[in-house]
Amino acid sequence: MKGVTTEQLEELDCHIILGNTYHLALQPGKDLLNQVGGLHKFMNWKRGMLTDSGEDGVKFISPFDGVTETLLTPEHSMEIQNAIGADIMMQLDDVVSSLVTGPRVEEAMWRSIRWLDRCFKAHAKPKEQNLFPIIQGGLDLRLRKICVEEMVKRDANGYAIGGLSGGESKDTFWRIVSACTDLLPKDKPRYCMGVGYSEDLVVCSALGVDMYDCVFPTRTARFGSALTRRGAMKLKNQIYEMDHLPIEEDCTCYTCKTHTRSYLSRLLRQKETVGCHLISIHNIAYQMRLMKDIRDSIEQDRFPAFVQQFMKKYYHERIASISEDEENQNDPGKAIGADGYPVWITNALSSVGITLLK
Ligand SMILES: [Zn+2]
Repeated sequence: MKGVTTEQLEELDCHIILGNTYHLALQPGKDLLNQVGGLHKFMNWKRGMLTDSGEDGVKFISPFDGVTETLLTPEHSMEIQNAIGADIMMQLDDVVSSLVTGPRVEEAMWRSIRWLDRCFKAHAKPKEQNLFPIIQGGLDLRLRKICVEEMVKRDANGYAIGGLSGGESKDTFWRIVSACTDLLPKDKPRYCMGVGYSEDLVVCSALGVDMYDCVFPTRTARFGSALTRRGAMKLKNQIYEMDHLPIEEDCTCYTCKTHTRSYLSRLLRQKETVGCHLISIHNIAYQMRLMKDIRDSIEQDRFPAFVQQFMKKYYHERIASISEDEENQNDPGKAIGADGYPVWITNALSSVGITLLK
């Protein structure tokens, strides 16, 4: 959460944040974290916290001497995450890019299962901190099934689906998510890692996912992009210069209550950092509201209708021509059907009995 204080996160009704273990292990480091009694106390955050396994640094060169290679083991990952004190810790897994195929994928899956057992064994505070396994197996449905079965045997308090959002087609993405959620226990949280686009959150929730993490809302804010129900609003664009409405009229966040698109656009074009900060606040509020709407509609037994209305607004009233992510332009999985919806979304939702509105 770059550029946002813990107090602001509480005001935005955030209940859980994610800490990057690799960075925390380097700075401030395990000794300081043990000394102050964990990261909650160090940063004065009283709510939920999740840490990743630190896998970015499975094998990394020491930034201090530029030579020494440090190998992150399951035991070391647990030791650091125990020192950080997060409420949910992630196992160390062997991650392969979702575009890799062949025997390397199966090898990584079995290694992840062996490492899960080592993580459980090394976990020093099982009564205070939860440890989530990470389902691997690449884009191979057979391997995913084996991995889920093996990991469910370990009886964890929640499960993550890993190894996705790495450039695979959206059609493959939803089929893997769906294959995993079909087999995971219904009474435990399912966490799909690295997901954060609005349409992905809605689709994956329909497929049975409960938790997500993504840098997208705050990263895209730093590029001047505000998230809305009708797609992303690139506020730097000249068209907002004379636009005196808030980003979203029905949004109750500090930014929307206080400032106009015109003012935010001016800040961005003058490269004032407070502009990015204000958009980050709105984007987090947007994301929290989207997830709350999903939860409320499920509790009130009207989730399919919510999905239909959301998708209709998102794709049929889309902010004209300035909202598409360039990175997605060449993905065949992003094909748009005659009804205006991406084909993968129509297929994913129809697999759970939701038909989109014309
Ligand atoms: Zn707002």
